[in-house]
Amino acid sequence: MTSPLRIVIVGGGSAGWMCAAALARVLHPARYNITLIESDEIGTVGVGEATLPHIKTFNDLLGIDEAQFMRDTQATFKLGIEFRNWGRTGDRYIHPFGVFGEPWGGVDFQHHWVRAKQAGHELAPFQEYSYAIAACRRNAFEFPNTDTKSIRSTYAYAYHFDAGLYASFLRSWATQRGVRRIEGQVANIGQHAQSGDIETLTLKSGEKIAGDLFVDCTGFRSLLLGTTLKVQWEDWNQWLPCDRALAVPCDRAGEFTPYTRSTSQTGGWIWRIPLQHRTGNGYVFSSRFLSEDLARERLLGALDGAARAEPKLLKFSAGRRVRTWKNNCIAVGLASGFLEPLESTSIFLIQAAVIDLLRLMPTPESAGRIDPRLVAEFNRLSDIQYERVRDFLILHYRANHHEGVPLWDHVRTMPIPDSLAHKISLFESRGHVPFYKDGLFSRDSWLSVLFGQGLMPRHYDALANAVPIDDLDARLRELHARIASNADAMSSHSEFIAHYCGETSSR
Ligand code: FAD
Repeated sequence: MTSPLRIVIVGGGSAGWMCAAALARVLHPARYNITLIESDEIGTVGVGEATLPHIKTFNDLLGIDEAQFMRDTQATFKLGIEFRNWGRTGDRYIHPFGVFGEPWGGVDFQHHWVRAKQAGHELAPFQEYSYAIAACRRNAFEFPNTDTKSIRSTYAYAYHFDAGLYASFLRSWATQRGVRRIEGQVANIGQHAQSGDIETLTLKSGEKIAGDLFVDCTGFRSLLLGTTLKVQWEDWNQWLPCDRALAVPCDRAGEFTPYTRSTSQTGGWIWRIPLQHRTGNGYVFSSRFLSEDLARERLLGALDGAARAEPKLLKFSAGRRVRTWKNNCIAVGLASGFLEPLESTSIFLIQAAVIDLLRLMPTPESAGRIDPRLVAEFNRLSDIQYERVRDFLILHYRANHHEGVPLWDHVRTMPIPDSLAHKISLFESRGHVPFYKDGLFSRDSWLSVLFGQGLMPRHYDALANAVPIDDLDARLRELHARIASNADAMSSHSEFIAHYCGETSSR
């Protein structure tokens, strides 16, 4: 009988434990052994509190009880991200986890809206045709309706949670299901002399761990893929110049929003993430344009409750490893790359990598000779994810009107990737935006930022003309009223959580 494939995960942050939990859930224990090594001495990055709706699918895959998970991680609901002062000072728009309008006549909603606007009709702003945004504006939350004809079914939700508590939650989940956990620091890595495959890890204690497949979840260190297998780093700093963050939790105060807030600043932007027990805050900035001292001062001045600690400095660079799978090693999480947390994408990228790894998992029979087609496909999928996120993040910087502010002048005038230039000009010319059936940031996400930061199409899709203009006017009015009246009837976010999670939320 073939021996089980020995999978060794190095790192016990969100990446390591998400990977261990999913593998333990799906792979047969008689065919796969899963070990995770983590170092208490090194610790984890300790941030990463805002997520995207895909995380619910991940938790559902594990069979996690949602209310229990929310209690244990002090989670709140998230319906989108509010961007303040991004296009111009005073602007406020929301990137919602939901759609805009309805696709009448098979034509995307934005074309109808632009047509009516160009015809001189009195219209509500584009943002007011999203149900998720209407809920955010009221600090309201309810689960989406399962009746797909209802306007209340047109959104999804994610969570804000305490990153440390989420990793502990997954750790106990995974270890109860057969994942072997070893506490220790990997000090030496043994490779096969010819192939370069990783064979053994030696801990500081002298203990040796052998494996067939290694998952590098060592965070920014990228100990296996980067340091040992020497996979190059591709720097994207020319497009995303922020390279520092100061993070600080504060007492819960101010609005209990069902959304993350991102407020643009002279040298970057400040995040605000409401949890049940505290609020997470951070200033992401570019060290070329702002000093650490000024960033600290601005961050502490922006808190809406008393700081609970000294701000913690994190240094990073935007980019990724040119390959995320090489030989018998796959990097997941920060070990594979990092793009600033502007759209809460890192945990999603972990999830996507873990799911792709499961789909392409080598069999125990193939130990020592992994099919290169699996590796190539994994790397292809990873490239798509990273590049889509990159373009979407750059758009936020590019479309700004903060003339005379050095960081913002730089990002408004810098050369951008051709793929992004094409997307912006297609929108400006005809109102079309990318639509992907899978993955991240499709039509409505692009629309929220493009309209939200003041871009406007010159023309709309001619197919929209098939709807008589008077009908269109009536439909727009009815839709706007239906969104508002339904959203008015929702529960408040804080009441919903108090009821759903029980007494722990009111502490
Ligand atoms: P880490 O948490 O750094 O874990 C690395 C692990 O490797 C640790 O357990 C460490 O002990 C172990 N390790 C390292 N070296 C060794 C060794 N030699 N031997 C043994 N063990 C070792 N993501 C989001 O999705 N949403 C957000 O809102 C968000 N905000 C962020 C804000 C900032 C400022 C930053 C920097 C990141 C943010 N992220 C966010 C990203 C998110 O924090 C990470 O993607 C996530 O925490 C996963 O990290 P990780 O597990 O890859 O690395």
